[in-house]
Amino acid sequence: MGKKYIFINSLILFFSLLIFLLISVYTLSDLNSKNTDNMIRNYLSIAESIYDGNNMEEVANKIHSSNPDVRVTFISASDGMVLYDTSSPSSENHLDRYEIKNIGEIAYRFSSTTNIKMCYIAGYDSDSNVYIRLSIPESSITAIVNSFTYYGIAAIIILSTISFTFIYFASKKIVKPLKNEVNKLSKITNLELTYNGDDVVELSSQIESVRRLIDSNIKSIKAESAKLNYIIENMNSGIIIISGNGNIILVNSLALSILNRKKEDLENKSYVYGFVDLKITDQIQKAINEDVKFSTTYTALDKTYAINISSLYANFVMSGKKAGVAIFINDITEQKMLEKVKLDFFANASHELKSPLTSIIGYQQMISEGIINNESEIRDATLKTIKEATRMNQIIIEMLELSKLEMTPNIEKKELSIANACESVLESYEIMIKNKNLEIIKDYSDFNVLINLDDLYHLIKNLIENAIKYNVSNGKIYIIIDSDKKTLSIKDTGIGISNENKNRIFERFYRVDKAKSKELGGTGLGLAIVKHICLNNNLDISVESSINEGSIFTVKFN
Ligand code: ADP
Repeated sequence: MGKKYIFINSLILFFSLLIFLLISVYTLSDLNSKNTDNMIRNYLSIAESIYDGNNMEEVANKIHSSNPDVRVTFISASDGMVLYDTSSPSSENHLDRYEIKNIGEIAYRFSSTTNIKMCYIAGYDSDSNVYIRLSIPESSITAIVNSFTYYGIAAIIILSTISFTFIYFASKKIVKPLKNEVNKLSKITNLELTYNGDDVVELSSQIESVRRLIDSNIKSIKAESAKLNYIIENMNSGIIIISGNGNIILVNSLALSILNRKKEDLENKSYVYGFVDLKITDQIQKAINEDVKFSTTYTALDKTYAINISSLYANFVMSGKKAGVAIFINDITEQKMLEKVKLDFFANASHELKSPLTSIIGYQQMISEGIINNESEIRDATLKTIKEATRMNQIIIEMLELSKLEMTPNIEKKELSIANACESVLESYEIMIKNKNLEIIKDYSDFNVLINLDDLYHLIKNLIENAIKYNVSNGKIYIIIDSDKKTLSIKDTGIGISNENKNRIFERFYRVDKAKSKELGGTGLGLAIVKHICLNNNLDISVESSINEGSIFTVKFN
């Protein structure tokens, strides 16, 4: 508390006590006057009642004997001279005295003979033409009151000084621990708090600055934690943090959905509630006991996950010497599937290339070993060799095309007309169409699309080629361009595709009838290329088909 406040406080105390003292003194004095007034009036009425015009001395003695302080004076009303007095009589004329002029009224004044403040009252006896005057010292209480006042003021001064000193030292004692706390806060908060323990206002303003700092720190901690939480919740990995005592202290939503658990089932529970796989729980326990890292896989609901388990030596998770554990779970189903697709692709590609190569080697060996020796057989074997080599070439061209589409999608795009692209494809298949005697029915409501030229050409080429290849002789091909729906449909009246095969025809090297496809020069890669072009250009492709009635492939452009 500041000295100023303690001083003001002591002043207030001083004046309060003083006012109290003054009120007490006034009340006492007033009471005293009233008592004196009553007393002197009583004596006057007694004196008047016993005065018979001649017994001045008797009256005076009676009154004086009952109260020696009362002075009784008889004054002649004709000349104002004192006729009888219980004290030494004055020779002055008393007729001008207030109490003589105002019979029955009280007068206070200092006596010229005693020099004491006296209370006077007088009565008049008309029979004897005499005034009976009584006087009495104001009272001995006055002296008490006076000394009460003096001692009171002294006591007030002493009390105020004691109070000032007490409050001063007490406040010092009270604020000392506050000062220490403020100094500690100063160190923690790096704020320049220079509280010297003298002023409460200063202390409160310093506490206010610390409060504001703490407030803003709490806000930024909350913002940081919200940010961290957002990142953790939106990561592509499942995250689980386990403390050194084996309890899960953090688990994000992705980890919960992978483990198919609710937050309340895992949070603050032992890690064994999270994993049923003994290999994983063993690895977690090892990571708690020693500094290790494990990578393992976990399969659930047709999905494969990579699980990385590692010891975490951070204060917020350690329990004594036991480390916490950080677990990251990543969905690698697609990666695994791609690996499988690649392996299948290599196996299929080798197989596809092996059979024409075996035929070529076979024919050439027969010629070189003279097994085939006449000209027409050699010609026949050579033609077959060329056919197989062409097939191999076609497979390799389409494989390269597919891998090119996978590696680097064509980015050079132009506004192209669908009808123009269809016309140019039809032109290149003119002979095949004639050979099969197919009728082409065009229903063009043309529109432009922003697409790469090669992509658009290969897309339409593969669909039209299949519509020709898998059509019946004298069949029909409908080419429908719908500018409203932004679709291109290629419909044939061919052999059709069964429902179960419909889902697989877009796979690489998949053919419904391998022998027929081979005979028609198919590679099993055409629709895989179509699917890839659609994927790269964000297009939808759908197929409807009925066995022996035909198929309709529809591409929806954006
Ligand atoms: P392919 O080179 O064998 O034609 P594709 O990838 O183009 O390879 O087609 C895969 C398979 O889908 C074909 O082998 C064929 O069995 C079937 N198919 C494709 N288009 C049609 C169609 N229009 N009518 C019937 N079957 C088709």
